[in-house]
Amino acid sequence: MGLPFAKTYEGPMATRSSSESKVSGGPTPSRPISDLSAYDAVSSLEKIGRCRSDIQPLKLDWNESTIPPSPRVIQAVLDFLHGNHPLNWYPDLAATPLREAIGRYTGVPADNILITNGSDAALDLVCRTYLDPGDCVDVVWPTYGHFLVFARACGAVPREIEPSSPFEVPTEVLLERVQPDTKIVYIASPNNPTGVVTPAADVARICEAFPSSLVIVDEAYHEFCGETAAALVRTLDNLVVTRTFSKCFSIAAVRVGYLLAAHGVMRHLRKLHNPKSVNALGQVAALAALEDREFRERFVAQVREAGEVLVAALRERGAEARTTRANFVLVRVANPGRLVKALEEEGVFVRDRSHIRGFEGYVRITLGTCAQMVDLIERLDRLLARDPLLLAPP
Ligand SMILES: *Cc1c(COP(=O)(O)O)cnc(C)c1O
Repeated sequence: MGLPFAKTYEGPMATRSSSESKVSGGPTPSRPISDLSAYDAVSSLEKIGRCRSDIQPLKLDWNESTIPPSPRVIQAVLDFLHGNHPLNWYPDLAATPLREAIGRYTGVPADNILITNGSDAALDLVCRTYLDPGDCVDVVWPTYGHFLVFARACGAVPREIEPSSPFEVPTEVLLERVQPDTKIVYIASPNNPTGVVTPAADVARICEAFPSSLVIVDEAYHEFCGETAAALVRTLDNLVVTRTFSKCFSIAAVRVGYLLAAHGVMRHLRKLHNPKSVNALGQVAALAALEDREFRERFVAQVREAGEVLVAALRERGAEARTTRANFVLVRVANPGRLVKALEEEGVFVRDRSHIRGFEGYVRITLGTCAQMVDLIERLDRLLARDPLLLAPP
C-alpha cells in the first residue's frame, strides 16, 4: 500500500526489515513498530545482583542518584501505607498536592503542569499527541535514545542535527538547520550524553523562529545546573519542558516525572494522558522529596564537588576527562570496552557511550558523593596497577 510515510521512514535504528518481523510470529504490529528493534536497555541491575558479597557495587551507569532519598520520603511512604489511604483505591487522579508543590517549585501555575509516570511518559505523550506518520522531528545529536524510540513509534522520522562539536551549544545550528515543517524539536538540556546546556534565552529564540513546531526541552538534569526554560511556558505556546524525580530526587524506582506547557498544548495532551498512570506511592514520595529542599541542595553540592574531584583524579592518571553541568562526567579512552569491563570486575558499573556516532571513545560515569568517588578512584588505581593503559586516550 502506498502509504505516504512507508518509504521515508527508515531511520538508523529502524534495523529490522519487514520480512524479519513477519517470521517472528503472531499478528503484525503497526508499521512503525514493525520497523523498530527492541529497545536496547543496558542496565547493570542483574550484574549487581551477582556481585561478590565482599564488594559494595557502585552503580554509575544510568545517572540515577547514588544515595537513598531523603528520610522524609521513606517516612511519607510508610505513613501513607499505615494511614487510611487504601491501596485498593486508584490514586489522586489530578495529583493536586503534588502539582501545587511543583507549581511553587517551578513558578509555573498548577494548571500548566501535568504529572507523568516518569518523564519518559511525558515525552511519549507529547509524541503520541502531536506526531503523524512521516512527520519530521529534529533532534540535537547526540541525544537521549529513548526519545527517538517514542518518535519512531509514531512513524516520525528523526533528523539528527549535529553541531560541529558535540560540546557546542546547539542554538545556532538549530536556527540554521531546523526546517519550518518540523513537527517537534527535541533538546535535552543539560544534554545526555554530552552535558551541554542550552540557555533559556536561546530556547526562546528557537521557539520564536519555528512557531509551528513544538519545542521540547528535556530538563531531566535541571537541578544539577540551575538553568531552566520553565518560566517561558507562560509566554510561549509552542514549548514543553519535561522534568523528572528520577535523578537528583533519588526516587527513580517509583517513576514520577512532569511536564510544563501552555494551556493550548495542555488541552491536547489531556485528551490522551491517563490520569491513573501516576501511582499513589510515587505521588507521596515525590511530594516529600520536593519538600526537603535542604537534602536536595546538599546532594547537588556534593555532586558538583565530586565532579571536580573525579575529573582531577582522572587527569592526574593521564586520562582525557571532562566535567559536565549534569551529574556525570565523561572520559575519552582508546579502548572503552576494556575500561568498562575492568571496572565491572571491581564492582563499578559505568556506561559505554562510544558506539554513538560522533561520540567515539566516550565513557559516561555518573557522579555520586565525594566519598563514593574516592572509593571509585581507589578501585581504579588497583586496575591501573595491572593495566597501566586502561585510561589512555585514543
Ligand atoms: C534519565 C533521563 C530521562 C528519564 O527520566 P524518567 O523520568 O526516569 O523517565 C529523560 N530524559 C533524559 C535526558 C534522561 O537522561
